[in-house]
This record gives sequence, structure tokens and C-alpha cells, in this order.
Amino acid sequence: MSKGSEPEHREVLVVGSGPGGSTAANRLAELGMDVLVIERRQTVGNPAQCGECIPAWGEMSDAFPLIKKDPWLEGYWNFPDHVLGQYLEWMRLYTPSMKEYGFELDCYGAHRLQFDGHLADRAVSMGAEIRTSTELRKVQNQRKLNREVYRTNDGSFTADYVIDASGALAHVGRLRGSEDRPGGQLPTIYCQVTGHDSDSFDIFMGSVAPGGYAWIIPKGDIANVGIGVRYNHLDVPLKQRLDKFCDGLGLTIHSYGGGWIPLGGMVKSAVNDNVLSVGDAAGLVMPSNGGGIGQAIISGKYAAEAIYENKMGGSSLSDYDNILKKTMAKQLRISRRSKNLFWTFCRNDFSTEVAMRLLGTNGLRRAVDCRRPLIII
Ligand SMILES: Cc1cc2nc3c(=O)[nH]c(=O)nc-3n(C[C@H](O)[C@H](O)[C@H](O)COP(=O)(O)OP(=O)(O)OC[C@H]3O[C@@H](n4cnc5c(N)ncnc54)[C@H](O)[C@@H]3O)c2cc1C
Repeated sequence: MSKGSEPEHREVLVVGSGPGGSTAANRLAELGMDVLVIERRQTVGNPAQCGECIPAWGEMSDAFPLIKKDPWLEGYWNFPDHVLGQYLEWMRLYTPSMKEYGFELDCYGAHRLQFDGHLADRAVSMGAEIRTSTELRKVQNQRKLNREVYRTNDGSFTADYVIDASGALAHVGRLRGSEDRPGGQLPTIYCQVTGHDSDSFDIFMGSVAPGGYAWIIPKGDIANVGIGVRYNHLDVPLKQRLDKFCDGLGLTIHSYGGGWIPLGGMVKSAVNDNVLSVGDAAGLVMPSNGGGIGQAIISGKYAAEAIYENKMGGSSLSDYDNILKKTMAKQLRISRRSKNLFWTFCRNDFSTEVAMRLLGTNGLRRAVDCRRPLIII
């Protein structure tokens, strides 16, 4: 490892080892490319910044039908039981008056520490290198040498290709001065609790989490409980809201976490020079439900293949943008529209109650995922 003045050169530098970065590293290594992942955390996946609901292959391929034709992705989705935790086959949505609407789900309540660790181990077993406790801090453009140098707390790097897998705040894009970064950031807080005895994924709407929602995701003996609140409703501290919510349900809190969910939709282009953004860094979270793990995995695989094809001389990196758009753009656009409608109409408990009752089970189901909540919208 070079810590002197001359940066270490790698074929592909991946910044971040969440699901997007590890999947990209896995696929790149499998295709025979030299890949280094730098991860600022000491341990991959710790601390989690997530509700920890992992979509099963059925859930993902229903949402994004084009991936059904991708045997690599289907095989990759074969996660071992110990990583997946509790199967969640039911979601319940609660109105402010606690009227409930339920529908089927195909997901798992997992531990991101184990899930992300598993994906990172798989990438390493394919030949990728992951360096933890290594944080990207600066990107320096050395014009005379026609290169960008990626400076970390533990050495500097140059690379033929870079993958921005650094999550919601897209640090590579930020440090390179790009304005095309994910927007609509929703602040969230969550905690791990005991004392919860339901086995469905529950969502609560209304003043418990204005402009957002509260969730309970069971994961075996414990559950992940959280809330996301729209910026202009941050009058009460998020932690206070969460404590009150858990208190009301008689839950015992053991630890807290939090993070940003980019709900603004896909960036205009996920390719910027030789840098490809994946997952949250490309704004691929589903705006109406905040889920992004599945899209991070899909985009990580596509980015890796676009890089490989480009290296082999066959195609332009912009093919990556094209396949993202073909696979996910429509769904993400509809999902964003649902979220915007929700923000427009559900301004208080009364209007939220009325809107949810009007939509009913089917409309709510469609609004939560990526289908039009009503035929006319
Ligand atoms: C509270 C909360 C609840 C959520 N709940 C769910 C859910 O239940 N289900 C779901 O599907 N999605 C959920 N999401 C969204 C989901 O967490 C993300 O969509 C998903 O993790 C995106 O994966 P990623 O690989 O793009 O980025 P991330 O998983 O965020 O990984 C980014 C990685 O980059 C590293 N990194 C960042 N900056 C640097 C740097 N400068 N140098 C080196 N490394 C860096 C980070 O440490 C991190 O490991 C939730 C998000 C939040 C905040």
C-alpha cells in the first residue's frame, strides 16, 4: 500500500461497502478486474443506518420486472438464512385513528451488520480487496497529469474507474463538486427495541411522523422502530418523537441510529466522466417507501458490467445510465409522484385519514410501492 507521495493506482476504486459497493466489487472481481473498496467504517455494516427490511427476489422482480431476465441477479439474491432473519409476509398501514389496512409482502427483517458483512465477504471471496477505516476525504484534480487523486486518511489513489457507493450524501460527487446529487433528503431516526410481539411490517401515518411515517420492522427477538419526518416538521426533536412513540407502545429501547433517505428520485445522470454512482448515491431509493437496498444491489451489478464492457472496448459508460433508466426510471418516477401527492394532501391527521380511507387497501398498496395509487394519477 502506497502512503508516500505517489498514489496507489487501481483499475477500479469503489467508495463505500454498503450493498451497492459490495455488489459492484463482487461482479467486477468475478469479471477479472482489479478492484479496491474503501470503507470508512471500522466494520462493514456497523452501525446500520436502516430499517433493515430486505426485499426478497419476488418483491424486487415484481417491482422491476426487467430483472427477471437476469440470472446473475437472481442467483446473487440467494442470501443464506442466517443473514435474512425473520420472514415478513404481511404489511399493515395504520391511519391516524389506527384503522389498519393490510397486504402481502415478500421481505425479511434482518440485521444490516450481518447482511452487509455477508455481501462484503462474498466480494472478497471473488478477489476484491476491501480496506476498512479508510475514508475518502478529498478529490484533487491534477490537470497537468490529467488525473484525479482520491485522498483518504490512509493513502491516496488513482483509478481508471471510480464507483460512488458512498450512500445518500454521495461523497464522491460532493468532493468532485458535482451538483447532480440525490435530493429530497428525509432525516430519520430509529432504535432497536424489545417488547414487540407482532410479526408484520407496520407503518403508522399522521402526526406521529408529520410528512413521513413511523415503522416497526420485527427481526426475531428484537424489532427496528423508526420515524422519518419531513424537514419543515422538525419542530419537535426526532428522538423525542421516537421515544414518545415507543413509550406509547410499551417498547424498551436498547440503542439508537439514524440517517438520511434521499427521496428526490434518480439523479439526471449516474455517469460523470469515469465515475459511476450506484444505490443511494444515484438517488435510487423508492421515494414512496424509502426502500433502497434492492436498487443498490441491482445498480452495483449494472455499474460493474458497464465498466467491464467499457474496458473491453465495446461500449460507452453511458450504457449504465441507459440500463438504469430502462429498468427503474418509470417505477421511481411514479413512486415519487405518490410521495409528492402524499405531501400535498396529507397535511394533518384529518386529511391523512380521509386520503387513506379513500385509497383503501389496494390504492395504499400501490402507493407504497411503485405503482399508480389510482388509475387517474
Ligand atoms: C433510517 C433508514 C431506514 C431505512 N430502511 C430501509 C429498509 O428497511 N429497507 C430498504 O431497502 N432500505 C432502507 N433504507 C435505505 C437503505 O438503507 C439504502 O437505500 C441502502 O443502504 C443503500 O445502499 P448503498 O450501498 O447505496 O449505500 P449505503 O448502504 O449507505 O453504504 C454506503 C457506504 O459508504 C460508506 N462511506 C460513506 N462515505 C464514505 C467515505 N467518504 N469514504 C469511505 N466510505 C464511505 C458508508 O460508511 C457506508 O458503508 C433506509 C435508510 C435509512 C437511513
